[in-house]
Amino acid sequence: MTELELLVDFHKDHYRQGPGSDDITKTIFKIIPDLNKRNFNVADIGCGTGAQTLCLSECTKGQIHAVDFSTQFLETLDTRAGKVGAANQIKTIEASMDDLPFEKNQFDLIWSEGAIYNMGFEKGLQYWKQFLKPNGYIAVSEISWITKDRPTEIDDFWKSNYPEIGTVSEKIAVIEKSGYSSIAHYVLPPDSWLKNYYSKIESSFDSFLQKHSNSESAQTLVSMEKEQISLYKKYKEFYSYGFYLIKKTA
Ligand code: SAH
Repeated sequence: MTELELLVDFHKDHYRQGPGSDDITKTIFKIIPDLNKRNFNVADIGCGTGAQTLCLSECTKGQIHAVDFSTQFLETLDTRAGKVGAANQIKTIEASMDDLPFEKNQFDLIWSEGAIYNMGFEKGLQYWKQFLKPNGYIAVSEISWITKDRPTEIDDFWKSNYPEIGTVSEKIAVIEKSGYSSIAHYVLPPDSWLKNYYSKIESSFDSFLQKHSNSESAQTLVSMEKEQISLYKKYKEFYSYGFYLIKKTA
């Protein structure tokens, strides 16, 4: 198995693949202005196994295009959508987020939770803009500093793992520079990390290691996850996912 296949295998049976919350997804959807449009057309980019896709399908009758590059995640989402009677509403699409098979001005809303970092926040916002209708919205979560200063250990960790990390106001500056206005932002609380995500993956470490006969690469993956969890527990007042609701202006 390649590193990526192993990562997908680790995450594929989980409800979500990153910090988040069904309630927060629905709350953010509800504050989008002008929601009662007909034929509301949504893209959910980096959808994983579809935690937020299924929430969105409860919020709108519109068509949802759920994009991921992992076939296995999309198969799980198809199964889950079938179980809740949303198979016609949710169309899964295997594609890379930086090479999307969409038309220009196709969407009223682009949703993306815990995924844009894979291509970079600024690059993602600039590239995805063409697929939005004029005045369309993006709701996107992105790792953000929530204080002005922070201890060196956590600063070094994130700067070497994701140099594009920035404060909420730096993220808003990128949003404005990229041709959007900021409608609202919200910082994910610790429950979205600890209760909804980390506690679930922690409980699967042993079975995952057993399944892979304690292979070196499985052990490396688990110890990296453990390191991230312990850093989060230690430094959670300094960073989180910022959830940004933004509107295309240019
Ligand atoms: N939105 C989901 C998954 C977040 S994890 C949730 O919050 O639970 C990030 C997701 O992005 C994974 O499903 C991963 O397969 C996907 N991904 C990573 N790089 C990608 C790329 N270049 N193109 C499309 N999807 C990608």
